[in-house]
Amino acid sequence: MSTLAQRYAEVMERIAAAAARAGREPAEITLVAVTKTWPAEIVIDAYEVGMRHFGENRPQEHAEKREQVERTLGLESGIVWHHIGDVQSRKTALVAEHTDYFHALDRLKIARRMSRHCQELGKELPVLLEVNVSGEESKSGFSCQRWEQDQEQREVLLAAVREIHQLPALTLRGLMTMAPWHISDGEIRDVFRRTRRLVEWLREAFPAVAWDVLSMGMTDDFEIAIEEGATHIRVGRALFGERNP
Ligand SMILES: *Cc1c(COP(=O)(O)O)cnc(C)c1O
Repeated sequence: MSTLAQRYAEVMERIAAAAARAGREPAEITLVAVTKTWPAEIVIDAYEVGMRHFGENRPQEHAEKREQVERTLGLESGIVWHHIGDVQSRKTALVAEHTDYFHALDRLKIARRMSRHCQELGKELPVLLEVNVSGEESKSGFSCQRWEQDQEQREVLLAAVREIHQLPALTLRGLMTMAPWHISDGEIRDVFRRTRRLVEWLREAFPAVAWDVLSMGMTDDFEIAIEEGATHIRVGRALFGERNP
């Protein structure tokens, strides 16, 4: 069995190789280590071998794990906590308090609530809009499956961008997407490529936003995502093994 340090080294090598294939620098890519379902001790082990960005998808688990990790590593560890899962309205306060980066903004209602909580906490939260480019029904996010042809889809998205940009405590940085399960590599590449084009279109349409972050790619598809322009990849199983259900 390989150790966490070995698996981390392997993932970093695969990131570097994918970046090289795309003519990119590995430093352009942030590895978000997805520690959902794993205990705080695993986060600390991962920290000790060099990981600094951690991703969680359940608000309560995220809050508790962060507190446990901070009890051991203190508040100045340099860890950045990412919330990568969808959030229900009644959990927005918990996420606003405990995360440093929110990847899965999929509704305006959540944005408004999150901004209000962050304002109360005196913090500025970087956020990504989650977009559903594949059209798969089980995926959340703003509907963008026909964004190239469908002016209405583009207008709904732009209206959301406009409103989120004006919220006082959120900083919109870019997009997050997920490829459907069980599709071919070519189809996955297509989803990522279309998401990258969407961010390029948004950059032209709404230049006041930085649009410098593109969160896409997980254990099974992060190399394709890097080749297609991902700046943040969210990797769990390749680092920590299979999760218990
Ligand atoms: C669980 C999860 C991941 C990580 O998935 P792996 O297949 O374990 O790499 C990435 N993104 C989101 C949104 C997740 O929920």
